[in-house]
Amino acid sequence: MALLQISEPGMSPEPHQRRLAVGIDLGTTNSLVAAVRSGVAEALPDELGRPLLPSVVRYLADGSVEVGHVAWECASEDPRNTIVSVKRYMGRGLADATRHPSPYDFVDAPGMVRLRTVSGERSPVEVSAEILKVLRARAEASLGGELVGAVITVPAYFDDAQRQATKDAARLAGLDVLRLLNEPTAAAIAYGLDNASEGVYAVYDLGGGTFDISILRLTKGVFEVIATGGDTALGGDDFDRRLAEAFVEANGLGTLAPDDLRRVLKAARLAKESLSTHPEARIEAPIAGRGMLATPVTAERFHALTADLLDRTLDTVRRTLRDAGLAVSQVAGVVMVGGATRMPQVRAAIGALFGKPPLVDLDPDKVVALGAAVQANLLAGNRSADGEDWLLLDVIPLSLGLETMGGLVEKVIPRNATIPVARAQEFTTYKDGQTAMAIHVVQGERELVADCRSLARFELRGIPPMAAGAARIRVTFQVDADGLLSVTAREQSQGVEASIAVKPSYGLSDDEIARMLQESFGTAEVDMKARALREQQVEADRLLAATQVALDADGDLLEPAERDAIAAAMRELKAASQGDDPRAIESRISALAHGTEDFAARRMDRAVRRALAGRRLDEIG
Ligand code: AMP
Repeated sequence: MALLQISEPGMSPEPHQRRLAVGIDLGTTNSLVAAVRSGVAEALPDELGRPLLPSVVRYLADGSVEVGHVAWECASEDPRNTIVSVKRYMGRGLADATRHPSPYDFVDAPGMVRLRTVSGERSPVEVSAEILKVLRARAEASLGGELVGAVITVPAYFDDAQRQATKDAARLAGLDVLRLLNEPTAAAIAYGLDNASEGVYAVYDLGGGTFDISILRLTKGVFEVIATGGDTALGGDDFDRRLAEAFVEANGLGTLAPDDLRRVLKAARLAKESLSTHPEARIEAPIAGRGMLATPVTAERFHALTADLLDRTLDTVRRTLRDAGLAVSQVAGVVMVGGATRMPQVRAAIGALFGKPPLVDLDPDKVVALGAAVQANLLAGNRSADGEDWLLLDVIPLSLGLETMGGLVEKVIPRNATIPVARAQEFTTYKDGQTAMAIHVVQGERELVADCRSLARFELRGIPPMAAGAARIRVTFQVDADGLLSVTAREQSQGVEASIAVKPSYGLSDDEIARMLQESFGTAEVDMKARALREQQVEADRLLAATQVALDADGDLLEPAERDAIAAAMRELKAASQGDDPRAIESRISALAHGTEDFAARRMDRAVRRALAGRRLDEIG
């Protein structure tokens, strides 16, 4: 299918009608917030244009709190009250928190440690909430309204306690969590892999201090994390240290004083980052008593100095794949996350290992937040590029769905899903003993089949006879990269199957698509009412039919007065069902259901007695 340009003139929602939702990457070192604007996910910067917010919170004696860059600058002068890497303590007890050295004064508390600060005890949840509050305020200021919610990312290996702690922090910050999303999944979504072909994907995440590898399996548009591995003490900082050591050696320096060490490490980091784009760089730092010293370093030498660090990550990747029972060749794509994946030797090594270039087009520091933003936008119901008159996407222009009882449409693939895409849904039978099912594929945004475009019809036959509602028919819609739709219906117990292929965009011009969309927007409320009415009518028909069957079979169980009462309730339901008030039908449905409860109990007794008749007691039980 070619790129579709869909005009939605005059349909841009007013800014106050947009449902603002954001994605938040609540990171160990840095956090960021992103949103989909003009159809594109982007990180939201602070007033100085900085997208990254250091995940650092400082508590002051006067009860005030500093967050981000300001707090980070105080980390060395006021370490006990300046909390860095609070993510490591989320949902963790004292034993876990004190496993690594830190300057904090921990307090043992049930469930999760607390930190004693100059302004009182704080739980990691409260500390994280301070970071989230700043991101929320930033988002509301730059998007111009209140947020309906946020998708917050967490490491794939986070357990329930850590996830719950993250949710609690969000609630404390006044954020509604639409969903917690695994970080690797968010990265994959940012690259649109959820719409790619099904298969296994790897997410290689090398940050400043940690390394994570996650293996995801994409099935029917949903990612499952099938394996994770990593090293919590390996990251870009280790590469800095190797350069710092080379600097110390080249200049004949012994052990460095703490201030000198900090300056050398900073210079090493700058040199490392420069070597990502230059063949040569200089490590340049003033050393007490020696003045400014400079050591040139080539990319080649840097690679040699750090090859073992890179190899360690590759070993972990291989081991994780092996644990998952997968060969590298089975991995369909690799996503790069984390600032340290900007190093070209890392990209080259991953490309060589997997036999394909890794995905690096998105900023590796932002990719997780971007994916979370995409997901948040979807969950908030902003399926189109909200606020925009134009969509320019290789997408399904109109929703694809099935006709269900009562002439209603059940959407299976929503409009604007990027192709290729596959979605499945389960349906069931309506009547006892039903052995065939008519599948009617429709396209459009409206709730009633009559208002949508009919694409194809076919029948699934050979369903084993079962009680109504017991059969499970899985209907899969698949649209390939060419926009070709195939629909398959499969009965789950015996596996009988039927399918059909259609070209959904065939014959629909852009103008027609625009008109159908316009109609659906204009009629959404009417459609919802029509849908509610049809649903109640279908339910009324079902109940009336079932009651009639029961009366015909076991009417003799009723006294004449009871019979009359049921007949009256049926008449009232029939009359209500011809009207247009779904609530009236609903109340008549419950009246009839209630009025036949005793009858149903008597029928049940009779059925049991019949089943037992003629059998000896010792046969039963
Ligand atoms: P993160 O924890 O994902 O923010 O990653 C931070 C790490 O990425 C630090 O070690 C940075 O030095 C490193 N980094 C950032 N930019 C670059 C670059 N251009 N080349 C190499 N490493 C980088």
